[in-house]
Order: sequence, then structure tokens, then C-alpha cells
Amino acid sequence: MNENKKIPYKIYLEEHEMPTQWYNVRADMKNKPAPLLNPGTGKPMTVEELSGVFCTELAKQELDDTTAYFDIPEEILNFYKMYRPAPLVRAYHLERKLQTPAKIYYKFEGNNTSGSHKLNSAIAQAYYAKNQGLKGVTTETGAGQWGTALSMACAFLELDCQVYMVKVSYEQKPFRREVMRTYGANVTPSPSNTTEVGRKILAEFPGTNGSLGCAISEAVEAATSQEGYRYVLGSVLSQVLLHQSIIGLEAKAALDKYDVTPDIIIGCAGGGSNLGGLISPFMGEKLRGEKDYQFIAVEPASCPSLTRGKYAYDFCDTGAICPLAKMYTLGSSFMPSPNHAGGLRYHGMSSVLSQLYDDGLMEARSVEQTSVFEAAEQFAKVEGILPAPESSHAIRVAIDEALKCKETGEEKTILFGLTGTGYFDMYAYEKFNNGEMGDYIPTDEEIAASLSKLPKVNG
Ligand SMILES: *Cc1c(COP(=O)(O)O)cnc(C)c1O
Repeated sequence: MNENKKIPYKIYLEEHEMPTQWYNVRADMKNKPAPLLNPGTGKPMTVEELSGVFCTELAKQELDDTTAYFDIPEEILNFYKMYRPAPLVRAYHLERKLQTPAKIYYKFEGNNTSGSHKLNSAIAQAYYAKNQGLKGVTTETGAGQWGTALSMACAFLELDCQVYMVKVSYEQKPFRREVMRTYGANVTPSPSNTTEVGRKILAEFPGTNGSLGCAISEAVEAATSQEGYRYVLGSVLSQVLLHQSIIGLEAKAALDKYDVTPDIIIGCAGGGSNLGGLISPFMGEKLRGEKDYQFIAVEPASCPSLTRGKYAYDFCDTGAICPLAKMYTLGSSFMPSPNHAGGLRYHGMSSVLSQLYDDGLMEARSVEQTSVFEAAEQFAKVEGILPAPESSHAIRVAIDEALKCKETGEEKTILFGLTGTGYFDMYAYEKFNNGEMGDYIPTDEEIAASLSKLPKVNG
């Protein structure tokens, strides 16, 4: 208890204590994630093939399973210093409110205009594109966090940024769209008639609201059909987990300053990038047999890829242009229910996390959205930060674990990732506050139906 007294509410690192290398957890995995496959040939993708879509340096990072540490280029480090080191907060107020003997910490990634951790990878991807002499990058965005982060990074590096935004979000979330345009991005509602795949989808489904998978297909086509452009993606990929390792490395450095070792590490999981980044250095210790930790991935019950999906090769996009990835997936045609407001709607999961989960090194839980918003509001009232719905999945399970400690009297140390703020999610909060939010859980039949359309490579 005396020890506790010395721990401040916020543990900040000094600038000079910031990590200068990213950590690649794949280097320490005995069972490596399955390779990306070329959808045409069924053979593993090479750097040359990937370089047609991604920047060359990023293609190399994507396929590198052996290099443990990558130097962070100085220009990226300098950009990071605008909003990093990010604080590690001891949630004293929440602990008191819950009357738990557990010690709760969270790593807060919402201290930048984009409002989430996505900026950590956006600046890295924009930097490598610029360094390669490209004119610009293309991407998709759903709710808009990734597009916003990428717009900020591209503005800083004076790179053209073309964002395909899922049409329903483009129309219903004008604020994020305008943030992107303010930073100079070109934002197109998807599906659009600017691409062949967009025109095809529009002809087939004239009134469609669009989907993330469809926007990915358009962004990839835009990148490959314009000279000097490449496609960038804000989650799922191994390169993104690598860049996001800054979260875990900083969190670990801050905890190490006070000799604190977490027992449980919790993160929300959409495509897996923040969770992968947060747990990477800790998972590395576990993989090397140095320490043990309990890792928990939290996903929505309405889009439960780890807890109810299948570990199989699948398409990453609706148009089936992207490489095939082996991952826990609900099938690329899976659509979460329209009343699902809490984010984390991607059908698959990072192949790195999928392998770790399959090997029993990480657990997964699914939670229903009303209980997520309850946790969000409980947290906001005592810790002050208005959390993003996505982040609140992690809050939910952190609170659940802290309440278990209250029952057992165990003084466990819990670390969770607070990935962002929820200012642009007030329609979702409004629904919850009005008591209009429901919990939709897909049936086994619905999941089976989309899994029946998995590509044939699975034998
Ligand atoms: C995008 C996003 C997520 C989910 O993405 P991951 O790749 O799973 O980390 C979580 N929280 C916030 C705030 C986001 O913007």
C-alpha cells in the first residue's frame, strides 16, 4: 500500500525516454503467422508483388517475421513528439468508485486531433510513401478515425491523400469528413463512380449505403490505377501492429519506472492494431519465457471474429482484390447489424493476433454494446475522459476484472488500452441515453452463411 502512494495519477515519460525502435513480436513467435497469399496463384506474396499496392519499405515490414527491432526514422519520432509520449494513467478514481483492491492503469491514446491511436501508424505509412518519392496515398475509412489520422499525417508531409469514405458515414458523420478536408484530403463517398469496382457495385446495388470492404476495393483500385500512388490501411496488417508497438513500449517503460508489473492486459479488438501494439513487448517476454501475463482481447458480441469466427484464409475486402490472409474471420460478406453503433466492425482479425490466440497465448471475450456504453459512462463520470465506444469495450472488461478482484480480495494489476475519445460518436451515446440501443447477436446460421463463402484455398 505504501508503495502505491508513490505512484502518481499520470506517469509521463520524458521525451528522451521515448522508445526509438518499434518491436516486431513476430520475431519471437515460434509459430509464425500464416503468409499472405496471392489470390490469383494461391502462393505466398512476395515483396515485389506487394510493392505494387504498398510502399516498398512497408511491404518489407509486412513480410518480415524475423527482425525484432526497427529503428523509428527521426522524422517520425519528431512527429510523435507533437502528441507523445502518451500518458499512462493510474485510474485511482475508478478504483475508488468500484471499491476494488485491483490497481487499474490505462494508456491513453486520444491526445491528438484525430482522437485515436491510428495516428501512430498513419505518420509512419505517410513517411515511407513520401520517402519513396510518391505523390500520394489512397485509403478507405468507415467512421473516419483512420481517414482523419491519415489526413493529418499527409498534410504534415505534403502528400496527396484520397479517402474513400463509406457512403452512410460520409452522409451521417459530416464532422469527421470536414476535419479530413480541413487537412487537405480529398474525400469521396463510396461506392463512387470514380472507380471500376465502384461503378460495378452501384450498377448492381443502386441504393447501397456502402461498406468498408467495398471502400477498400475502391481505394486499392485508385492506388494501382494512378501513377505515383500507393494504398495504405489503418489496421489488421502486421506493419500496423509494428508501428503501434509504440503504445506497449511506452506503457512498459512507464510501468518499469515504478517497478509495476501488470497481471492482466486488456484491449479492444477491431482489426487488432491497438491491442497488438499494446501487448507486443509484454507478449515478447511471455514468448521468450521471461514473464507471464494474462492477455484479453475484447470484441463486440455483434461482430465476434475471435470468439465465434473460423481460423481460415479469407478475403480482406469485398471486391477480393487484396491478398488473402489467414485469420479468425466471420467471412468477408459478414455485415454487422445496422443497429451496432460501437465500432469494431471488421470481419477479420490481424493474422498475428489470430495465431497468438490459436496458440492459447491470448484470451478473447465478446461484450454486448449496452454494457459497453454503461461502462463508458461510468468511466467518463469518474475519470473525466469521454471514451470512444471502441475503447469502451476494454473499459467494460477492465471493470469486470476489477469487480472480480473485489469478490476475491486479490490485488491484481490491470492495464488496459484507452484508444481514443468519443466526441464524434454522440449519436451512439444519444441512442444509449434515450434507451434506444439494443444488443444484436448474430445467429449461428448467419455466421455459417457468410463462412460458407470463404475462398477455396482452405482445401
Ligand atoms: C480504429 C479504432 C479501434 C479499433 O482498431 P484496432 O485496429 O483493433 O485497434 C479502436 N479504438 C479506436 C478509438 C479506433 O479509432
